[in-house]
Order: sequence, then C-alpha cells, then structure tokens
Amino acid sequence: MSTTTTTLGFPRIGAKRELKRALEAHWRGEIDAASLQATARDLRRRHWTLQRDAGADVAPCNDFSLYDHVLDTAFLFDAIPQRYRQLADADPLAGYFAMARGHQRDGLDLRALEMTKWFDTNYHYLVPELDAGQQFRLRGDKPLAEYLEAKALDFDARPVLLGPVSFLRLAKTTDGSDALALLDRLLPVYTELLGRLADAGAAWVQLDEPVLVQDLDDATRAAFQHAYATLAARKRPKLLLATYFGALGDNLPLAASLPVDGLHVDLVRGLDQLDAVLNALPDGRVLSAGLIDGRNIWRSNLDNALVLARHARDRVGNDKLWLAPSCSLLHVPVDLDHEKSLDAELHSWLSFAKQKVGELRLLADALAGKPDAEAGLADARARIVLRKQSARVHRAEVAARLDALTASDAQRISAFPARRDAQQARFKLPLFPTTTIGSFPQTLDVREARAANKSGKLSDTDYEAFLEAETAKCVRFQEEIGIDVLVHGEFERNDMVEYFGELLDGFAFTKNGWVQSYGSRCVKPPVIWGDVSRPAPMTVRWSQYAQSLTKLPMKGMLTGPVTILQWSFVRDDQERSRTCRQIALALRDEVRDLEAAGIGIVQIDEPALREGLPLRRADWKHYLDWAVESFRISASAVRDDTQIHTHMCYSEFNDIIEAVAAMDADVISIETSRSRMELLDAFVQFRYPNEIGPGVYDIHSPRVPNKREMVELLEKATAVLAPQQLWVNPDCGLKTRGWPETRAALTALVEAAREMRAKV
Ligand code: GLN
Ligand code: ZN
Repeated sequence: MSTTTTTLGFPRIGAKRELKRALEAHWRGEIDAASLQATARDLRRRHWTLQRDAGADVAPCNDFSLYDHVLDTAFLFDAIPQRYRQLADADPLAGYFAMARGHQRDGLDLRALEMTKWFDTNYHYLVPELDAGQQFRLRGDKPLAEYLEAKALDFDARPVLLGPVSFLRLAKTTDGSDALALLDRLLPVYTELLGRLADAGAAWVQLDEPVLVQDLDDATRAAFQHAYATLAARKRPKLLLATYFGALGDNLPLAASLPVDGLHVDLVRGLDQLDAVLNALPDGRVLSAGLIDGRNIWRSNLDNALVLARHARDRVGNDKLWLAPSCSLLHVPVDLDHEKSLDAELHSWLSFAKQKVGELRLLADALAGKPDAEAGLADARARIVLRKQSARVHRAEVAARLDALTASDAQRISAFPARRDAQQARFKLPLFPTTTIGSFPQTLDVREARAANKSGKLSDTDYEAFLEAETAKCVRFQEEIGIDVLVHGEFERNDMVEYFGELLDGFAFTKNGWVQSYGSRCVKPPVIWGDVSRPAPMTVRWSQYAQSLTKLPMKGMLTGPVTILQWSFVRDDQERSRTCRQIALALRDEVRDLEAAGIGIVQIDEPALREGLPLRRADWKHYLDWAVESFRISASAVRDDTQIHTHMCYSEFNDIIEAVAAMDADVISIETSRSRMELLDAFVQFRYPNEIGPGVYDIHSPRVPNKREMVELLEKATAVLAPQQLWVNPDCGLKTRGWPETRAALTALVEAAREMRAKV
C-alpha cells in the first residue's frame, strides 16, 4: 500500500473569484439564495475534481465556507448572539450574513461580529460571541451535507471541523466569563455530529486545533485532555488532529497523548520537529506530514521533502503516512496556470494550490519508487538550482550594501530632545499641531482615471495632469481649513504596498493571485522574489510638487519595510529579516532624497508591525529586534531637523510598547478614537518620551464626529500626557471616505485643536 496524499483545505473563492462575485451579487439583491448556493456547489465540485485530477487521494469537505469557517462553526453549534436570533430563525442565510457583516434593513440595525486575524495570517475570522449562559445545539447539518454532496459525486471526502478547544479559545465572552468553562456543554454537540458523520460512512474526520502551536496554559491543556477523551469514547469516525502554523514544541507530549487516530504536523515551519514527533507518536497512529508550504507560493525542494518523507515512512510504515501541505491551502492562490503574463523564469519557480497538490503526488510517487517520478524530481531540482543561481535574484551590490550596514546606520545623529529642539526651531508648529495620515478620498473619478491609464485609454501625460490637479485641490483644501502639516493625498497610489512594490526591483505582481482576506474580500499580495533595490526615487516627484504649492510643511509619505514585507509573499530562500533590511535600505534612500528635495517631514507607516508578531512569545524578541532595526535603518539617514513620523493602526500596544518606543520616531500617530483613548494607556505607563498623535476621528465610519467629542478625547489625552507631546489627527488615512464628510470632520478637528490651544 502506498502513502496517501491529502490536503487540509482548499481556497474557496475560486480561481476567478467566482464566490466573491456571487456573494456580492446576492448582497445587492441581484441573485437569490438558490443561485448563490448553486455557485457554491459548483465551486466545491470543481475543487474536489481539481484536487483529484492533480493527484490528491483524499480531499477534505466542509472546508468550504460562504464567508468564514469559524462563523460556520458558531452557526452550526447555535452560538448565535441574541441580536441575530429572530432573523436567523426566520431566514438562516440572512442571519448568517448578518453575523458576518451586520444588517441594516426594515428598521433592523444589527452590528456584525468582531473580526480578527486568523493566527499570523492575513485571513480574518469572525469572533464568536459567547457568555456563561451559552447553550449549544446542532443547527443545520453543513458538514454532513457537504460530506454527502461529495459522496454523491463519488468523492470520499474527509469532513473538517474546527476542534472544540480551538473554537472556544478563538471565541470571546461578552460577560468576562471563561469560554473554556463551556466545554462540557459543547462536547455533546461534537459527539452528536461525529456520530452522524460516522453513520453516513465518513471514515475520518479532521479536527483542526491550531492553538496547539501556541503557548498554552494548564487549563487549556486540561481542556484538550478532557475534550478528546470524551470524543474518542463515543461512536465516531477516525480522528485526525490537525496542527499547523508552527511546531508543537512543548505541546508535543500533549498532542501525542490525545486518543486520536492521526496527527497532522507542520514540517515546513516546524521542520526540526520530525524526529521528536516520530519519537512521541504512539504505535499505529497515522502521521500526516505537512511537507509542502501552504503559506507561500514557491515550489518545494522535493529532494529535501523526500528525505523527510522516507525517514517518516521508515518509522511509521507506508500505510500510516500521509503526505500533505503544511496547512490549509486557503492562504495561497488557486492555480498558477492562469498566470499567462508572468515573467517566465519567475513562473517556473512558483506553485499555487493546484500545483502544490501536484508536488505532493510527485513526492508520493517518488517515495513509492515509481520510475516515472524521477523525471519530475529532476525537473523540480533543476528549477530550484536555477533559482538559487539566478543573477536576477542575487545581486552582489545589494548583498554588499547589506553586509556593510553597521549599528550607526540605525541611529539618528542626536537623541530625541535635541532633535525636537531643532525641529521646533525649523517648523515653529503651534501646540496640538494638526495633520492627517496621508490618503484623501479615493473617489470614483480617481479610480476611473487610474483604470483608464492602465488600459491605455488615458495617456500618461493626461493622467499625470489629472493627478496634479487632484493633489493641488487637496493641498488647497487643507490650507483652507487650517491644517498645520499637509499631505499630498496619495491619489497616485492604488494600494500602500503595491505602489511601492511596482517601483522597486525584486517584486512581481500576479494577475489572478487572489487570496481571501475576509468574506468576499481578496488581496493580491506582491511576490518578493529577488534582492530588493530602488532603481529611482518613488515618491519625490509628488511630494515636491505638492510642496511647491504651499509654504506650509508638506509631509512625505512612505510605507515602512515591515509592512511591505508583511503584506507580500516573501522569498523563502533567505531569512525574512534580510529581505526586510533590503527594503529598509531602499526606503532609506527615498527618505534621504525627500529630505534633499526640501521635504522636512517624512512619515513611514508601519500598520503591520504588530501583526508580524510570531505565535510563540519566546520568538517575539527576535522579531521585534529586526523589525525595529529595519524601521530605524529606513528612518535614520536624515538631519536632526528632519522630522520622522510613523503611523500604526489596528494595534494593541501594551505588550510591544518597548519596541514601539525603540523605533524612535519623532512622532507616532495611532488609532485611538474607538477605544476612547484606552490605547494610549500603554504609552502613558511606559512614559513614552516622543510625540504622539492619538486618533480623534474614526475613519472607518461615515459618521462625522463633532468638535466637542474630539475635544473630550483630547482632554483625556492631556490628562495623562504633556500638551507639548500631542498632535491632533484622524485614526488612519481617509481614502475610503467621501469628501463632504471629510471636510466636515477635518474642519471640526482643526477647531478642536484650536480650542485645546486656547486652554493651555
Ligand atoms: N498613509 C496611509 C493612508 O493614509 C496609511 C494607511 C494605513 O495605515 N493602513 O492611506
Ligand atoms: Zn492606519
């Protein structure tokens, strides 16, 4: 018997984003539920077929979701907060979407569940809301229905469920109670479902417990033991316990001791754990070896994977070894075959979901000693060698520059107090200076002009003239309403990472490389495939033009190195930190060029710094060290009287405040209005020495805040920080807002700052 190839999950959105289109059409009322479900069914069938054709012996089911699999789980177990109940009872699909995205119709106004990042990915899940009184029951039969749907199509699929402990750990409680305390109420529902799946003929069920790669407290460990002992004792299919996104580490003995029939481990991020896993695994247990990277788009080194696979096979035997991607393929695009215009060399190094299944097939065939696997292996090897040797990937001048970096390159000339004096002398800003975070409304006009230019309908000259006119309008607007430090408005930018990626060497862009971010929202991350350098200035022209229109200081706007790294597919042939430093050096040149062009204030945005934190606390320091150093490399080549800003949103600061302070930006703007300044606490407690702009305008909502609310927020800030430290600004960029509300809100913001000045 040969080894089994399988996957843990497949992208749902479709190679052409069919699910996105159907969802959005349904939400606009253009197609009914039946036709949305027909699209969903068609995608499931296509994806099962595609995986089989590409060489997977077993594909999962119930990995599909109309919006999010954590929401599916909450809905399935009837963890539906009171506010949605009536709607969910009357119309389950409408109730489900209300939980996902809120619901405003017929006098009903329901806010959505909170959304947050799925571990350290860019996928967002909906956070189940529980309380101490929570009851669970089975509602509908999605996993069973999808199992039977697959069976009717002749696929013996393996249902995937989010495991009970991860489900509770990912949920939040609204009454401060402990979600784990609900375990005993939850387990009977899992038992019932597993029983029904067994009755329907499912041989295996996959229980995803990714929290096992994180630091766990004793209560969670005990919950695992209790949960799995309970589930194992009942009628059920065989259980595959799936862990991913890292090594099991100190949780390995726990995971190996649970009474399940198979264990999936991540051997890409947890490359070094194979021996420990083999030693810990009880006899007779299936090992699902996650050998192909489910988080990135590079072809695997199959020779290396084969060594691991052979080693595992020799210990557990052919029939007990499964070959799989490291995690669900949700995090990679569907099919590289749709990339027709990608550079051929780069194309030959990439592997999307479908290709990854093919790699698994090849690996299994090679392991089984099939003669025709040799040619495939040789081809894979040749590609790896070419990539390793490519002069386009490895550029001596970039390496030399990186190697020549010294500690002083990450160091401003003087410490903050001296810089502050120099900057005050230069800019003479009032107390509570006002500024914005960078972008102004990206109206339909702006997006249409960009699209027209891209398709060739609008010449470069006309497009530039259009952008200049928009920029000029924006500068005039800011002068008119009395902003102190202006921005040019970022009209020339499609996206804060893509814009820079397109101007830097070492980046490539796909046509269809979509990855689900949340619900129907997809992102197309750039591919960083080679050494990064900056062939020419990227933003100087726009900042300089904007500065020429005003005597007020114009702030240059850049996306920081960590954020560019974090929101891209990153090369896997060198440390992330090294790629990050390369980007930092490119930005350093840009900052210096801006300075030389007379731009005295430069903002380097790092909204993604926090989300890059590793899953294990023990790894935080290493990450924060190189992340902060990268920021400082980009920011430190300037004179004392050049003012460096940074901006961070979506962040909690309590546990990273030391690192944020170590970035040593002269000014940081953060998002604080929704939390009513609570996020400032970390800065206060740390006695953060530099200047801060706590956001006073929630730009995620069309609502216009009035002057009084903003003054109140600023008073909260002055109660704990010196007025000399404070700036006045919105939470984030204004690109998703309309002009009328932007005008009203910023006018009130300037008035609020003036009122604050009058008070001191
Ligand atoms: N400068 C960017 C903007 O204003 C910052 C965006 C962000 O922080 N997400 O759009
Ligand atoms: Zn922001």
